[in-house]
Amino acid sequence: LTDLTGKTALVTGAARGQGAVEAELLATAGASVLICDVLDEGEALAARLTAEGCDAKFLKLDVTSEAAWLEALALIRDWTGRLDILVNNAGIINRKTIADMSVGEWKKVLEVNATGAFIGIKLAAPMMAETGGGSIVNISSNSAFSGHYDPAYTASKWAIRGLTRTAAMEFADQGIRVNAICPGLIVTDLNRNSPHLGPMIGMTPMARAGEADEVAQLVLFLASDASGFITGEDFVIDGGFTA
Ligand code: NAD
Repeated sequence: LTDLTGKTALVTGAARGQGAVEAELLATAGASVLICDVLDEGEALAARLTAEGCDAKFLKLDVTSEAAWLEALALIRDWTGRLDILVNNAGIINRKTIADMSVGEWKKVLEVNATGAFIGIKLAAPMMAETGGGSIVNISSNSAFSGHYDPAYTASKWAIRGLTRTAAMEFADQGIRVNAICPGLIVTDLNRNSPHLGPMIGMTPMARAGEADEVAQLVLFLASDASGFITGEDFVIDGGFTA
C-alpha cells in the first residue's frame, strides 16, 4: 500500500534536512518527486536520485510566492500530468522573545511557515482533484501542543494544525486527505546551534532526538493509500515529550 508508483509528489523545503529525507523516501517508494526549495542544494539531490534510478526534479521555489507555486504546478503538468502528494515541509525559526521580536520578524515566520502552506494547499488542491484526489501532509511541530521557546514559530505551528483540520473538511469530498505531522527534536541545520537541544533531550522520555528518517516514514504512510481513511489528524512523533 505504500508503493507510490505512478504518483507525483511535491515536497517544499526539500534541499536539506528532513525535507530532503522525505523527498528521497517518496522517490524510492516510486513517486516522481519535485524537490522545491529556496536553496540550490536541491539540484544535487535531484541529480543523485535520478542517477540512482528514481524520478526527481528540482525547482527553486519560495513558498511565499504564488507565482512560484504556479510555475511548479505547470512544471508538473508538463512532466507527469498529475499531482497526488504535497508535503508542506518548508519552515524557518526565529528564537527571539516577544519583547525582542519586531512585527516584521513575526510576520516573516508566519508568512513562510503558515501562509506558505496555505498557498500550496489553495493552488495544489484543484490539480489533485482533477485526478481523483490525493494526500497533503503539513509539517507542524510538537511545539503546537504547548507554549514554547519561540513565539512566532510556535504560533505558526499551531496555525498549521488549524489549517490542516479545516482543509481536511473542505477537500474531503474531492478525495483529498490532509494531515499534519508534529515532530519533536530532530537535529538539523534549523536547530543545530540552539541552546535548547540538551534540555529538550532531557525532557524526552526516550532520552534522544528523533531521526529525519523516522519522520519521513510517517510522511510516506500518510502520503500513501495505507492511510486511506485518515484525514484532519495531527501525529506527534517526539519520543514521548508531549505524552
Ligand atoms: P532545515 O532548516 O534543515 O530545513 C528547512 C528547509 O526549508 C530548508 O531547506 C530551507 O531552505 C527551506 N525553506 C526555508 N524557507 C523557505 C521558503 N520560503 N521557501 C521554500 N523553502 C524554504 O530544518 P528541518 O528541521 O529539516 O525542518 C523541516 C520542517 O520540520 C520545518 O517545517 C520545521 O519547522 C519542522 N520541524 C523541525 C523540527 C526539528 O527539530 N528540526 C521539529 C519540529 C518541526
